[in-house]
Amino acid sequence: MTKAVHPVLKEIASLFNNGGKEIYLVGGAVRDMLMGKKINDWDLATNALPDEVTAIVKRAGGKVVPTGIKHGTVTVFYKNNSAEITTFRLEAGYSDGRRPDEVHFTSDIEEDLSRRDFTMNAIALRLPEGKIVDPFDGEADIKAKVIRCVGNAAERFNEDGLRPLRAVRFASQLGFEIEKNTLGAIGGALSVSAKVSWERVRDEIDKILASPIPSRAFLLMEKTGLLKLFLEELAVCRGVEQKGFHRFDVLDHSLYACDYAAANDYSHELRLASLFHDIGKPQARRMGESGVWTFYRHEEISAVMCKQILNRLRCSNAVIASVCHLIKEHMFHYTDEWSDAAVRRFIARAGQENLEDLYRLRRADTYAFSGKEGDASSLLLLVKRVDKIMAHSKALSIKDLAVSGNDLLGIGIPSGKKIGIILRELLETVLDDPAQNTREKLLEIALKIYKERS
Ligand code: ATP
Ligand code: MG
Repeated sequence: MTKAVHPVLKEIASLFNNGGKEIYLVGGAVRDMLMGKKINDWDLATNALPDEVTAIVKRAGGKVVPTGIKHGTVTVFYKNNSAEITTFRLEAGYSDGRRPDEVHFTSDIEEDLSRRDFTMNAIALRLPEGKIVDPFDGEADIKAKVIRCVGNAAERFNEDGLRPLRAVRFASQLGFEIEKNTLGAIGGALSVSAKVSWERVRDEIDKILASPIPSRAFLLMEKTGLLKLFLEELAVCRGVEQKGFHRFDVLDHSLYACDYAAANDYSHELRLASLFHDIGKPQARRMGESGVWTFYRHEEISAVMCKQILNRLRCSNAVIASVCHLIKEHMFHYTDEWSDAAVRRFIARAGQENLEDLYRLRRADTYAFSGKEGDASSLLLLVKRVDKIMAHSKALSIKDLAVSGNDLLGIGIPSGKKIGIILRELLETVLDDPAQNTREKLLEIALKIYKERS
């Protein structure tokens, strides 16, 4: 069997062939091509050594950057395209469970394929003609939608503890099943998986969240022990019953919310918020007097715990701030008894720029009560109310106030934390009564607050 090959890949191949070298397209690109999907990155493998790769590409006018030279990888830029080119290699000794102690180059593509993780990732396409080299029957596994280790699963997972996480990630990304022996070997390599750096765990979790049904991976993680290892806070939500409107325990509820977020193409932050919005419930749960569970202030506990989790996963501060804010604010309960001031306070707390996301989180949360699209009527009423009030209100945040911090300095209030506190109080006043938002009135109130406090 052969496959159609991109013209630039053919050109690159002829540069290598003219130098007496072989070159193949490998890894995810071949897998995706066989699945009829769009190819994103070109990973190429060759028997040319890195110095030879560099010489061949430069001679043809291309650019070479030694991006992973220790592992025999360079990135080449050629005719508006880029590719990673890695010399065929074998790996030996994984004493830290993360990366091989030594890299040995080989001149045999089949040896190179044998060190790869799964059969579906161990297929090469010989260039330029596109002949498939598939010593481990990866194509058959792709057809059957099966993830299977190359060789002995237990050995392969004990060499590199990232592989089990890649397996569950691919399961949800591709909608594949993990073959029985491969799945069964994950539990025996948890101590090796425990050595994987949090950045790499984060990258896999990000890819799980970007996949069509993230719960597939999280349930596999639960079954194999990976969830307890990496996201223990989520694992302990299993069996935490809620009853009332809720059909599910806290773990399934969280997974339904996350799947809803993915199915509706929500942002990465919203997917994280959906997954962790109730993570504080096991801690907050109390048996109420009437025999129903209560979860008072669980949103605050959840936000604090989510911050710890995302810090551990080395997420950016911007992601952490936005996810935790959404979680902290997710428990609003609108009724038509809310005064205009209450609606304005809601907007100010949420921040206008976050309203849409909070509504989305609410939809995911409501869906996850039962796994069905829930009753959105009260949310729709709130949205209407908010829109109406936003159209009329001029002051919904500190920057909309008729005075600034400088104005407060100007009337003799000393700089420091007090300024911010007073501005927040002025905003509260204006949210209650927008008519107060004049320079004169606010300066008067500010001075009064300052004098009372000092
Ligand atoms: P994606 O890019 O969608 O994550 P991919 O299969 O291309 O999928 P990469 O991380 O880009 O994954 O790796 C490229 C190839 O390198 C893989 O297809 C696989 O052959 C090999 N590979 C990657 N990581 C490992 C690993 N931990 N152990 C063994 N082989 C690996
Ligand atoms: Mg890739």
